[in-house]
Amino acid sequence: MSLAEQMDTVTDAAAGTVDRHATTQTFESTAPTTGAVVGVFPVHDEAAVGETVARARTAAEQWAALGWDGRKQRLSAYRGYLARRMHELADLVYRENGKPHADAILEITLAVDHLAWAAGHARKTLGLRKVASGMLAANHAAYLEYQPLGVIGVIGPWNYPVFTPMGSIAYALAAGNAVVFKPSEHTPAVGAWLAAAWRAAVPDVPDAFQVVTGNGSTGAALCRVPVDKLAFTGSAATGKKVMAACAETLTPVLMELGGKDAMIVDDDADVVAAADAAVWGAMSNGGQTCIGIERVYATSAVYDRFVAEVTAQVQKLRPGSDGEATYGPMTMSSQIDIVRRHVADAAAAGARVVTGGTDPDAVPAEGYVAPTVLLDVPEDSSAITEETFGPTLTITRVRDAEEALERANATSYGLAGAVFSASKDRAMDLARRMRSGMTSVNSVLTFASVPALPFGGVGESGFGRIHGEDGLKEFTRAKAITRQRVALPVNLMSFGRPEKAADALARVMGMVHGRHR
Ligand code: NAD
Repeated sequence: MSLAEQMDTVTDAAAGTVDRHATTQTFESTAPTTGAVVGVFPVHDEAAVGETVARARTAAEQWAALGWDGRKQRLSAYRGYLARRMHELADLVYRENGKPHADAILEITLAVDHLAWAAGHARKTLGLRKVASGMLAANHAAYLEYQPLGVIGVIGPWNYPVFTPMGSIAYALAAGNAVVFKPSEHTPAVGAWLAAAWRAAVPDVPDAFQVVTGNGSTGAALCRVPVDKLAFTGSAATGKKVMAACAETLTPVLMELGGKDAMIVDDDADVVAAADAAVWGAMSNGGQTCIGIERVYATSAVYDRFVAEVTAQVQKLRPGSDGEATYGPMTMSSQIDIVRRHVADAAAAGARVVTGGTDPDAVPAEGYVAPTVLLDVPEDSSAITEETFGPTLTITRVRDAEEALERANATSYGLAGAVFSASKDRAMDLARRMRSGMTSVNSVLTFASVPALPFGGVGESGFGRIHGEDGLKEFTRAKAITRQRVALPVNLMSFGRPEKAADALARVMGMVHGRHR
């Protein structure tokens, strides 16, 4: 089947999911590499979103009733379906997002791995279990389980259109919820493909995972409907609007927002490896990575060698749209203005632009940003304080790793970061004191590929966690149950308790706890 035919199928499939409602408005998704139309999708209004969520409510009951084994088997079928069609999905990601095919394959691989982990660990993490009853309720059995919330709304961005939303979708489904997903208006075809794949792989509960398409107004409708929890991934500015809308219905929210991640390069670091990781962390996917490295703080001992190595490596990068390109165009053309502003602000404040910059001759065509390395950028410059989200890297000389940590932490964001040091203890200490949700030592972004590790930020990078046990629990409510096993002769929680019972209890407490000072 040709790609055009595949796209027709995808668009039809999307219509199958969501166009059982009469929606008049449509929008086009276009390829950032060529401007060609990738697909035409409905703009779902509040009524359409409401109908989709209502169907999801019915499906949530069917899905929950399947039990752990039934859900695991269907999530495995879905994972298998994605794994068998990886190239097809990667082609679509390339067309709609612009990233190289190999990067798309990597992204899909991560998503499939997370699906497997979430399905495989849901029962152990969330299922009914007994916990210690404690002294006061020794005659009772105590139980804990994590129950699904119902319907989870997922609003996603365009930069990792498979991996990022799947961090919420896979874990929410594995926990027993139904999901309604609103993909970014820049990548609706990928979202529609994922939902169509679900219907094909899990035909007996097709509405457990559905998609609605549209721009911010469709996302806002999903907040108002309401759903039982809203998992949002996107910018901090939109996250604030989502929280405000969800506050109206007391809908809980998960916020996966932007970042300004830093790398610390210590005196004893492997400078070549650190430079390689910094260049990949900053420039892959055109720098459009929430956990991408945007700032490096290198100690005086390694700074010159590090800058020389980064410069040499960056000169080998080639933005473009062919099979040899290292990264593609900016997915959203409006982002180019932000990147240019940050580079221009830095240059105006005295920074040195050692590669790239805003020179239009340095890129193959409009829509691309050259790999840009900035030195000596003042700490109050927008290239240091705001999320740039482009293939840029600032490198700053610092006295030592302590100063590097202080500067790394001096940001309103706190998503992730990296430490390069040969000393395990030193690196671990720096990593633990880095104010971020995730840090990798002697590599970049690795935590995202470890399904057992939670993923999320602090400060303006958001709150709540996807991935790992925390990610499963995020889409549940804890349910506590006690069951009286035997009745005691004296029941303290009864108006019939003897008068002296309180004195006896105080004496016992004095003996057990009173000796602690
Ligand atoms: P964005 O905030 O512009 O949009 C995100 C989503 O929100 C889109 O689907 C959009 O249609 C929707 N939306 C817009 N207005 C809305 C409203 N009023 N109510 C509800 N939904 C609304 O972000 P983006 O440009 O798509 O993505 C880039 C941002 O996402 C960057 O800041 C990046 O760092 C962040 N990001 C974070 C993570 C993470 O896991 N922390 C992952 C990927 C991207």
